Amino acid sequence: MTKKGDMLYAWTTNADLAKKAECGGAVTGLLAYALETKMVDAVLAVKRGVDLYDAVPTVITDPKDISKTAGSLHCGSLLLSKLVNSYVPGLSGKKIGIVVKGCDMMGILELAKRNVINLNNILMIGVNCGGSVNPTSARRMIKDKFGVDPDTVHKEEIDKGQFIIEYEVGQKGISMDELEDAGYGRRSNCRRCKLKIPRQADLACGNWGVIGEKAGKATFVEVCSEKGANLLDKAVSAKKIAVEPANPKGVEIRAKVENAMLKLGDKWRRKDFTALSPNLWKTIDKETSRCIKCYSCIDNCPVCFPFADRFKKSSLMVQQGFLPVEPMFHMRRFAHISDTCINCGQCEELCPAEIPLALFSHAIRTESDAAYNPKLGKAAYIN
Ligand SMILES: Cc1cc2nc3c(=O)[nH]c(=O)nc-3n(C[C@H](O)[C@H](O)[C@H](O)COP(=O)(O)OP(=O)(O)OC[C@H]3O[C@@H](n4cnc5c(N)ncnc54)[C@H](O)[C@@H]3O)c2cc1C
Repeated sequence: MTKKGDMLYAWTTNADLAKKAECGGAVTGLLAYALETKMVDAVLAVKRGVDLYDAVPTVITDPKDISKTAGSLHCGSLLLSKLVNSYVPGLSGKKIGIVVKGCDMMGILELAKRNVINLNNILMIGVNCGGSVNPTSARRMIKDKFGVDPDTVHKEEIDKGQFIIEYEVGQKGISMDELEDAGYGRRSNCRRCKLKIPRQADLACGNWGVIGEKAGKATFVEVCSEKGANLLDKAVSAKKIAVEPANPKGVEIRAKVENAMLKLGDKWRRKDFTALSPNLWKTIDKETSRCIKCYSCIDNCPVCFPFADRFKKSSLMVQQGFLPVEPMFHMRRFAHISDTCINCGQCEELCPAEIPLALFSHAIRTESDAAYNPKLGKAAYIN
């Protein structure tokens, strides 16, 4: 019997699925089993669209279709929690399985706190996430830094600190540090993120720590809840998933990699937030003056959008139809999310005026957390 806290190597027993999956295919295998046995009525995951830069969210109800979602799309910078809400009316009262990165998971938890979704109906299969790359900047990076036509790339992966592409004439990898120092690489919010293993999901799955003969062929699974343990046990009994205890050396390596990633997150926080100091408020004023009041930041924020109509209709908060935007529009939104911003980066990712909204919001959240929670210590990035 599996229990919370267990660490396992897991893999699908379906050979076709194993070929399409990122490593062991445990994620897709478990979701297939959950659909087949009606543990969930639908799965919300991501599938490849026209090319590998195009991550398309998809709802699957027929287990035969689940293989379309296998594989990791590192240029998929979308947030699934927002989409859960869009699907809620149609799936009301139904059980949904969702594949979540750390930010997707935090978004779902924020929506649950606001009674927008009921966690009892959600099965969260977490995937570790070192960060995603914006699809447009990925294309630019592949052209400029790799000297390769992005349309000739058929596979990308992030492995051992490198961004690796497979294209017409072979394989090429460049270290993430080098790419990021040159202004490419992961989205800036992902660089600052310190939630790499989504332990508030039911299972946390990844490739870190899979060593020896199982390297590349198994998924590292950390069991995070009874719901997750139950799914895993049943899928193993039905012979849909095979498991073995994780190699203790692998467990150690995974912990070291996670720790190194957290330190890297701290490094980026220091770099990004210190650069804002001492002119945070002036910088916000200047940058947000480009705002065209499209409300994309509100509509795509997992914390704001349940209140979007109230925001837009309130003449006190935002005067609709008037430009230039008054600086307090953004200040009020930052204040509203100052204790809950999850640093998902969607506000910045989808801002047509390219205002670094996530940077501002994350800086404010980090400073206020430190100010009001002595256990976290002093952030002191901003004077
Ligand atoms: C952006 C990203 C970064 C990652 N970084 C790390 C890392 O640094 N360390 C680590 O240990 N693991 C990382 N992973 C997880 C790893 O790549 C595998 O997803 C995990 O090991 C599960 O393997 P699997 O073979 O069981 O997955 P599969 O059975 O192939 O299933 C993969 C699942 O991921 C979903 N998915 C694909 N792309 C996205 C996306 N952009 N957003 C949300 N869901 C998506 C698919 O819909 C599918 O359900 C990352 C995954 C992603 C998406």
